[in-house]
Amino acid sequence: MSDKPDAKIIKSDAEWQKQLTPDAFRIARKKGTERAFTGAYWNEHRPGTYVCVCCGQELFSSATKYDSGSGWPSFTQPVAAEKVATETDRSLFMERTEVLCSKCEAHLGHVFPDGPRPTGLRYCINSASLVLKPEDEKG
Ligand code: FE
Repeated sequence: MSDKPDAKIIKSDAEWQKQLTPDAFRIARKKGTERAFTGAYWNEHRPGTYVCVCCGQELFSSATKYDSGSGWPSFTQPVAAEKVATETDRSLFMERTEVLCSKCEAHLGHVFPDGPRPTGLRYCINSASLVLKPEDEKG
C-alpha cells in the first residue's frame, strides 16, 4: 500500500529533521516563511519542475512561474490540482489560504487571488519547500 502513487507520507518531526536542512524543516514542517528575496528560487528562470523538498512530489512547473515582484517564487497554478491541498490560515491577524503538498502535508506557502491570467491566482511559495529539477538534468 505504501508505494501507491497517491499514498500519504507521514513521518515524525525527528525523521523530517534528520532528512531536511534546518531552514527546510522550519518552513516546510513548521509553517515558517523565508524572508523575501532570500530564497534560492525567487529569481530562478531555468526550465524545469519544482518538487516537494520533503517527499519529491512534483508540484509546480517553470512554465507557470512568473515574476511577481514579491521576492518569493510565484506560480499561477500547480502541475495538477491534486498535487496541492489548501487550508484556511487565520494566523497573523489575516485570513489567508495556505498551500500544502497533498502527499506529505509540507507547508509550501499561500495562494492569493491577485495573480495574472489565465488563473488569476498567485501561488506564493517558499523556495525552501521546493527543489528544482532542471529540464536538462532529467533522465
Ligand atoms: Fe511533499
